[in-house]
Amino acid sequence: MKKQIAILGSTGSIGKQTLEVIRKHTGRFEVEVLTANNNIDILIEQAIEFNPNVVVIGNKDKYEKLKSSLSHLPIKVFAGSDAISQVVQMESVDIVLTAMVGFSGLQPTIKAIEARKIIALANKETLVVAGDIITSLALQNQVPILPVDSEHSAIFQCLVGELNNKIEKIFLTASGGPFRGKDIDFLSKVTKKQALNHPNWKMGDKITIDSASMMNKGLEAIEAKWLFGLNADKIDVIVHPQSIVHSLVQFEDGSMKAQMGLPDMRLPIQYALSYPNRITSDFPRFNFLEYPQLTFEKADENVFGNLRLAYYAMEKGGNMPCIMNAANEIAVESFLNDKLGFVQMAGVIEKTMSKASFVKHPSFVDYLETDAESRKIAIEIIESKNF
Ligand code: MN
Repeated sequence: MKKQIAILGSTGSIGKQTLEVIRKHTGRFEVEVLTANNNIDILIEQAIEFNPNVVVIGNKDKYEKLKSSLSHLPIKVFAGSDAISQVVQMESVDIVLTAMVGFSGLQPTIKAIEARKIIALANKETLVVAGDIITSLALQNQVPILPVDSEHSAIFQCLVGELNNKIEKIFLTASGGPFRGKDIDFLSKVTKKQALNHPNWKMGDKITIDSASMMNKGLEAIEAKWLFGLNADKIDVIVHPQSIVHSLVQFEDGSMKAQMGLPDMRLPIQYALSYPNRITSDFPRFNFLEYPQLTFEKADENVFGNLRLAYYAMEKGGNMPCIMNAANEIAVESFLNDKLGFVQMAGVIEKTMSKASFVKHPSFVDYLETDAESRKIAIEIIESKNF
């Protein structure tokens, strides 16, 4: 029996790499659903090649074009975010891979868990925003959440066979991004082009900016809290510029396990799809002689203020990570639209976190309201240049 996969966000970087994995294992996996927000040309190409049962375009304005482009094929075509939340519940779907950007991943992930689908989680914002709701729903429905994020996949792989052994600490590795070792002065002058030029990973724009600002690692620390049930004091970040050690777990006896390999997202994607098995791949192999030195250094929270904000949000709990995430999404968008400087992003986020209404035990509706309120506050701060 082939596993039937729904890919949410199939035209993004993770979505495309997921299709690369499936293309090489057509005997094991089949594409049942493809969804994209806007990128209709790539979606059409993918639909023609993989012949899914259903495709959904988030942007309703593009429905007619999508429908007519696929009219010669037996593919059902839908549009809108409600449709995305519905198709993940289809009987035929086994695994839902969530690779959409930002807050938009939350609702369909909840629907997929309620329908008891295996979640391959690439949308870290889902856990950052509402980790309490997602993890308790998953527990209640006995649904596994398999991490696709490389660091979390690494930790997950290190924990195989360690079910009853307590974690003393985990170390999330960070490449440090393109501005590792730089000071605030340097950061205040960096351009969009510099920020989008990541040394090790080729990724979508949003996560590439998050990596440069270290917000990505902050989001990942919160993601790890929920995935592995750890408090902030058990989650450390260590900068490792070569991106070969993808993360580490330290157990009570002091022993440490690491997962290593070349930086290639297809590996964690494939592991999530094939789990608990490992299957063959022809991805390039690590060669020790090409990496005679693996180095590690401290992350500088004074320069990369986002890291400090993320740990504050994690310890504060409630809707604070949701506030931070919303402000960050607005800040990154404004930076990409040349409306905000690089170092000002952290200022906008910090200010939004101090202004938005704090809720200690938020419901799902509270999270929706928090997201909307925080975006509004962040936009006001940016427009009034009051950061
Ligand atoms: Mn990552």
